[in-house]
Amino acid sequence: MLVNDNRSYRLSLGSKTVSVSKAFSNDAKEMDTNGNGYLDNHEVAAAVLGDSVSLNQTEGQDLVQEFKSRMAGLPNPNAEGYHSFQQMEKEIFELAKAHPEEVQLKSLGKTSEGRDIWALKISEGAQGNTSHKTGLVVTGCHHAREWMTVEAPLKLVHDILDNKSTPENQNRLKEAELWVIPIVNPDGYEFTRNENSWWRKNRRPLEVDQNGEPTSAVGVDLNRNYWDGNPEHMYVYRPPGDTPGNTRDDFSATSDNPRSDTYRGPFGGSEPEVKALLDLELSNPNIRGVLDYHSYGDTILYPYGHTRQESPNAALYKEIGKKMQNASYGWDLEQSVGLYPASGTSDDTHDLNGILNFTIEMGRSFQPNPRTIPETTERVSKSSLAFIDEMITKDDQGLLPPRLVSDRSA
Ligand SMILES: [Zn+2]
Repeated sequence: MLVNDNRSYRLSLGSKTVSVSKAFSNDAKEMDTNGNGYLDNHEVAAAVLGDSVSLNQTEGQDLVQEFKSRMAGLPNPNAEGYHSFQQMEKEIFELAKAHPEEVQLKSLGKTSEGRDIWALKISEGAQGNTSHKTGLVVTGCHHAREWMTVEAPLKLVHDILDNKSTPENQNRLKEAELWVIPIVNPDGYEFTRNENSWWRKNRRPLEVDQNGEPTSAVGVDLNRNYWDGNPEHMYVYRPPGDTPGNTRDDFSATSDNPRSDTYRGPFGGSEPEVKALLDLELSNPNIRGVLDYHSYGDTILYPYGHTRQESPNAALYKEIGKKMQNASYGWDLEQSVGLYPASGTSDDTHDLNGILNFTIEMGRSFQPNPRTIPETTERVSKSSLAFIDEMITKDDQGLLPPRLVSDRSA
């Protein structure tokens, strides 16, 4: 099944020679400068990297391999070096067993394919009520293809539990109630590991054809689906003037097209993954901060993303962000709006509810060589620990914004 009429270009992926999928045949034609039907690494690099001389060799190779996997519609061979969903599950079960005083495991809900959205509650006296402490949430893998964001939460958990008797960790365990969700989007994550490395959304089928079979409209961008249910905050999910179901007035970073990579979903909070997180965060008034892990960019971001306006908490973000930046050995720190506004994001929704939210865009590609896991996750963990310490102190001093408390029991 290597070559058929629609698949005339080939490339190497790991140790195999594979076909370029039909969707990329025009790109392949352009990239195949010597016209031999085979895309060698030089040809792909020229197209992917262009003249970007700032990338070092390893990063360049990672981006080339990611692009080749994407063109073939196949998993990236780097998957073997990252935790599968099942391996992650096994690891957190072992951690919970080894540290019963400090860890409580909880499933926040199930995905459309039936996987658990696992959370570890980490705190001294974890089996009991710890809701009087500073509540903080760390989330990995909203976006399926961002593999490093699964490794980073696990590293943070190990850094705390494997060294739990240090004075710093004793203080964190005593003062904070830390919720760590290593994989928010397990269905999408497994899909990128086994089928299509470039998938970003969850895997919920959105429509069926006349025969009741799911169509190609699958999945919602989980970081475009946030809405807290408050009508006054609707503008953060859908900007004023944007017509539901119409793609002509979409902002470029958020779409009403179910086949788009940045589809916002049929309504805000429609996805089980997003609902599970909002239920945890908004119904517990002690939750004061969220760290949302994404890749890539080596940048720490703070709200807003839906507008160029600054959050009323901007001064606090810059102060805490500086500490995180120093701990990460110098990542950039900036407001998340960037070039284009995006709506329905976790950070803006949390901020409006009085929950400080940083987004960490780690690394320099989506699925880098697993050799880079220790260095990248070390930087993320250090930066996250700085966040935890700052939040504990600020809460103690009464300097955090007031929480908006919503009743999500209905
Ligand atoms: Zn992301």
